[in-house]
Amino acid sequence: MNRRRLTLVLAAACAGSLALAAVAAPGGAQPPAAEDQTWRERAAEGEIPCNEQVPQDFLVRASWSTRAYMERDEIRERREVHQRAIRFRTENYGFFEGFGLPAWNSTRPLDNAVGLRLFDRPIRLNRRVVDAARCVEQEIARTCTDDYQPGRLSGIRDRNTYHNGEVSNHVYGIAIDLDPRENTCCNCVKEWRLHPLCQATPESIFERMIMPRCWVEGFEKYGFYWLGHDRLMDTMHFEFLGDPEHILQSSGPPPHMSDPRGPSAD
Ligand SMILES: [Zn+2]
Repeated sequence: MNRRRLTLVLAAACAGSLALAAVAAPGGAQPPAAEDQTWRERAAEGEIPCNEQVPQDFLVRASWSTRAYMERDEIRERREVHQRAIRFRTENYGFFEGFGLPAWNSTRPLDNAVGLRLFDRPIRLNRRVVDAARCVEQEIARTCTDDYQPGRLSGIRDRNTYHNGEVSNHVYGIAIDLDPRENTCCNCVKEWRLHPLCQATPESIFERMIMPRCWVEGFEKYGFYWLGHDRLMDTMHFEFLGDPEHILQSSGPPPHMSDPRGPSAD
């Protein structure tokens, strides 16, 4: 190395160390490197422009589930709503064998599944609802002050877990369970009724789970329906029943939210 070259190298090294010193100078207050950030810090800094939306009525389980005491006409009407809900899910998320027609969608939900980390946990969801899940994560990171950390998430499944003619939103990849052992489902199967949180008679459904209420509100703001409201009392379970074409503001407001008769006028 000649003398001139050595001088240049030293100058460059010196400039580099000065630059490092400048970054580290203000009392160690520099932002943490990306790998040191918690998911809450990362998500809170996000700038995802999300549309707020409520679930579409005809997709909500309580709109079409039938009970033995119902009149025949009501049961018929509810079955029609159920068929409409199956068609919507098939067209948007994929055809699941046994429900609807393959002509409505040439793909299966599993063809549309993607893996991601949500709340720092792995999950597989239908790609069409990933932005909605990110909107929820951003909202929770910004507004919930608890330290709840889900241990396990459950997303898309290849089998239908209902045995009564219904199809679970998990097969479409649009449902998310959080901590399926700790957030209870007291009316799902009789084993759950032995759980301490199911045996007690709490003042509200929010006391039948370990998840904070703030998380439910975060999900509900962006089109997810919480099955804690259902008579199943499935507190671990959220399903995206909003409009997948209008999750982001860049796609315009969801039609069911901009209807002047209000979101419930279906
Ligand atoms: Zn579930």
